[in-house]
Amino acid sequence: MFWDNYTETIDRISLQKLQLKLLQKTIERAQHAPYYRALLQQEGITPDTIRSLDDLRRIPFATKDILREQYPYGFLAVSRDEIVRMHSSSGTTGRATVIFHTISDIKEWASLIARCMYMTGVRKSDVFQNMMGYGLFTGGIGFHYGAEQLGALVIPSGPGNTKRQIMLMREFETTVIHIIPSYALHMIKAFADEGIDPKKDLKLRIAYLGAEPHSEETRRRVEAAFGVRAYNSYGLSEMNGPGVAFECPEQNGMHVWEDSYILEVINPKTLEPVKDGEEGELVFTTLKREGMPILRYRSRDLAAVYPDPCPCGRTHRRITRIKGRTDDMLIVKGVNMYPVQIEKTLLSFPEVGTNFLIILDHKDYNDHMTVKVEVSSAMFTGDLKTLHNLKKAITERLRSEILITPEVQLVEPDSLPKTEGKAVRVIDNRKQWG
Ligand code: ADP
Ligand code: ZN
Repeated sequence: MFWDNYTETIDRISLQKLQLKLLQKTIERAQHAPYYRALLQQEGITPDTIRSLDDLRRIPFATKDILREQYPYGFLAVSRDEIVRMHSSSGTTGRATVIFHTISDIKEWASLIARCMYMTGVRKSDVFQNMMGYGLFTGGIGFHYGAEQLGALVIPSGPGNTKRQIMLMREFETTVIHIIPSYALHMIKAFADEGIDPKKDLKLRIAYLGAEPHSEETRRRVEAAFGVRAYNSYGLSEMNGPGVAFECPEQNGMHVWEDSYILEVINPKTLEPVKDGEEGELVFTTLKREGMPILRYRSRDLAAVYPDPCPCGRTHRRITRIKGRTDDMLIVKGVNMYPVQIEKTLLSFPEVGTNFLIILDHKDYNDHMTVKVEVSSAMFTGDLKTLHNLKKAITERLRSEILITPEVQLVEPDSLPKTEGKAVRVIDNRKQWG
């Protein structure tokens, strides 16, 4: 059941001792990076002035902007000869940040992924189809190395080309997939178009959903349609990529691997820590990274820590689903909301298909919100007008979730734009109004 029995079930006191030791080591390494050399000197921080985990709070936060300022090598803590790999963020919110790894960083990262996969029941006998982007993005190669370390057979299919994905699944009897949730939803329709029922025609049993916010409703749909158990996988390139936090068989919160990262949860406005159970911004410190240690990185991702231990026996704390990034928050008519709230509401209707788009405009001095919703192909008879009641019901349920009344437009199945990478859910035309 455990990939690394000792580490996964280590008691909290020993875990904290380990974290302190690794933190001191990380600071020693960070002192070699141009950015940290200056910063730590200025703050009077050396490994031996960090005497407890609380001392971590003396170190200023790192942000995406600082990483961008220090682009490309300001955070590099080893000579360039030691670096064997570069990755970058997807650049969802601006210029991408770059991350460098030594050979040991790559091994450590892979072993975290192997741990995640093993935890959810993957073994050497499995066939793993990795439908995440290969290349600078961390989702593809990151998982690939982990699955190889575990010993599974890896099919590095990458994303897109849905027909070929289905062919590979069928011919090589794929049992495990790794996929972006919005693409998984899209595949449900593709299976129907190909006349395939994955539950009967394929051998799939496990799916990893990661890289973008998604709701419990999305998980349930994927599980029902693919005939799998689906697990939430969280990571960010600044902290390697996938393998930072992962669901265990309980499917109730993601364990953050605290032997490799220190997790803090802060109020993004006051920057003070929040209590367990309260939502805040996740802040991470690398504990094993050689090439590019990062201390107290503000992820901008919002989630809460579970206050209670997990019945699975792992002692590493769990976080909730990610609600979104602080910058994903939409303010419409003065009301705050996150796209995932809309996703959750829409997918609670079986009549709703697998794609939607939020469009924000400024009309008559007021915000206007349109939600375009694909209806499911099973429901679609060729005339959207007959679905008047559905439209009304969706509008009502959205109003109770987001507290404003959007204009709901039902559209034909498969008519909205699709992406192979992270889904674009919002088009905000108000920006021109400043
Ligand atoms: P970028 O920050 O440019 O999107 P990354 O590829 O590093 O580039 O993406 C990491 C981000 O993706 C995370 O900070 C988070 O916002 C999002 N993310 C990753 N996994 C999940 C997940 N399971 N649930 C929600 N969001 C996720
Ligand atoms: Zn657990």
